[in-house]
Amino acid sequence: MTDETQQDQCIICGTFINDLPPEDFTKIKQGYICNDCLADGWFIKCEQCGDYEFENDVSFIEEEDLFLCKSCYQKRGKDVQRPKES
Ligand SMILES: [Zn+2]
Ligand SMILES: [Zn+2]
Repeated sequence: MTDETQQDQCIICGTFINDLPPEDFTKIKQGYICNDCLADGWFIKCEQCGDYEFENDVSFIEEEDLFLCKSCYQKRGKDVQRPKES
């Protein structure tokens, strides 16, 4: 007996991914996300590794105008000297 309830869903809005054309959703580490939710800015793409992360887990590097996920940011933080706060 096959279980037909096991459909992939957008992890934000619950839309069934199987009903959407491939260009209307994106696969991310956590699952799938539809374009509508992606446009809402829930997830942001890390420019370094290309993974989508929840917006709270992404840091914006102002000087370089790019987004980095936590792990990429931490990796980079070890190399880059932080400007001293005055
Ligand atoms: Zn969605
Ligand atoms: Zn990254």
